[in-house]
Amino acid sequence: MRLIFIGPPGIGKGTYATAVSERYGIPHISTGDIFREEVKRGSELGRKVKKYLEAGELVPDEIVIEVVRERLKKEDCRKGFILDGYPRTLRQAEELDKMTSIDLVLNFHAPDEVIIERLGGRRICVKCGAIYHVKFMPPKKPGICDKCGGKIIQRKDDTPEVIKHRLEVYRRVFTPIINYYKEKGILLDVYAGEPANIVIPRILKLLEEHGFKPEK
Ligand code: AMP
Repeated sequence: MRLIFIGPPGIGKGTYATAVSERYGIPHISTGDIFREEVKRGSELGRKVKKYLEAGELVPDEIVIEVVRERLKKEDCRKGFILDGYPRTLRQAEELDKMTSIDLVLNFHAPDEVIIERLGGRRICVKCGAIYHVKFMPPKKPGICDKCGGKIIQRKDDTPEVIKHRLEVYRRVFTPIINYYKEKGILLDVYAGEPANIVIPRILKLLEEHGFKPEK
C-alpha cells in the first residue's frame, strides 16, 4: 500500500501516519523528519538543508528527490510506505511516478482556526520525535516525554511568525500537487478537524473500503 499524506502543517499528519504505519506494518517517511534528523546529526546533508528549514522554505528539488529515491529503495518499503511532506513540487511528483506507483493520496483538511490552535500548542520530543499538544495531548509530566523520558520542546518552525509563513507556503505549493493527484483520480479528501481518536478510525475505515487489508 503506497500512500501519500497531504495536509497543512499541524493538521495531525504525523499522528495519523503513525497509526496507519502500525496497523499496516509500513514505514512512515517524512522528509521533514529526515531533514531535521540530519541537521541534528550535523551531517553533510544536514548542513546543506539547515538554512531552508530555519526559514520555512523549500529544500531544492535535486536534494529532496535523491533523499526519497534512496529511502524508497530500502527493504522496509517492500510492502509499501506512507510519504508525508513529499511531493511538494510538480517535479518531485513526476520523479516519484518514475520511482514507484502510488495507490492513494489522502488530502487532510480542516478550518484555519483549528490548524492555528493545533500548531501553536504542538510540542515534540527531542529524543524520539513523539508529538504532544499543550491542550489536547499533554505529556503526563510537563516537559518530559511519556515514551522515552526525553525533553519536550517547541519546534523552531512552530513559532507564530514561521507558522504564518508555512501556511502561506503550504497553500502556494500544494494546490498544484492536489490538482495533479485529483486528475489522476487517486485523491481522497479526509476531514481532520476533529480529535485524532475520531480521525484515525475514519482513515482506517477508508483504507479498508479501498481494499487494503490491515496486518493486525
Ligand atoms: P515538514 O516537517 O514536512 O513541515 O518539513 C519541514 C521542512 O523541511 C520544510 O519547511 C522544508 O524546508 C523541508 N522539506 C520537507 N519536505 C520537503 C520537500 N518535499 N521539498 C522541499 N522541502 C522539504
